Amino acid sequence: MRIANRKRFTLSCIFFTLLMLIIGKNQIVFSEGKVFKVTSSPEAKELGKNDNAVLKNKKRYIVILDAGHGGIDKGTSYQNINEKDIAFKITKYTETVLKSKGYTVILTRNEDKLLPLKEIGNIVNAAKGNVFVSIHINSIKDPSYKGMTTYYYAPEGYQKDERVKLSKTIQKEVVKSDGWEDKGIKTQNLAVLRYSEIPCALVECGFITNKEDREKLLKEEVLRNISENISRGIIKYLNESEGN
Ligand SMILES: [Zn+2]
Repeated sequence: MRIANRKRFTLSCIFFTLLMLIIGKNQIVFSEGKVFKVTSSPEAKELGKNDNAVLKNKKRYIVILDAGHGGIDKGTSYQNINEKDIAFKITKYTETVLKSKGYTVILTRNEDKLLPLKEIGNIVNAAKGNVFVSIHINSIKDPSYKGMTTYYYAPEGYQKDERVKLSKTIQKEVVKSDGWEDKGIKTQNLAVLRYSEIPCALVECGFITNKEDREKLLKEEVLRNISENISRGIIKYLNESEGN
């Protein structure tokens, strides 16, 4: 290095040191050689911390979704409309909504296949999740009967308060679009919920035997709205539970 260059180098060092002293109070975060966050005020630092905390909370939650029936078990049907297909669509839309908001989602089935109920229970419990929701479509002899119902099952009172709360929260949200009739929550010894160790609910999204409900269920937009509603119900329940 020549003397002139050395002088220039020394001056550059001094200038750089001064510069670092001036911005020293600011926090510069380097990641893989790139500056991605520069914060200076305590408020900004706090905001960053909170953002991360919110993200962490959301990512910590695991939601297990079950599309009712599948494979040779079509569930209930009306002409060529099958419960298993509508339930699967709602489940997939719900998965998309929850994932877009940062939640981890596990599906009991991601294709048109029949799972033994015990296997569904095994998937739910192995996932160490926070909430399990099974999605179905209802049917009944009386064609005038319509609307949505959310079921809970708390064998011997197990997690009864949480399960009732989850069902109520989902039910309150699920009827919010497209003029669905609110049939409230009910309890029933439902096989698919029997093995679950975590808070769970089964949503009956309308009656395939009712003309009005059936016509709604054939519209993708309506199914997407149901999914948005179910997702909001799940999120509200999670946010209100355990003080999170
Ligand atoms: Zn069903």
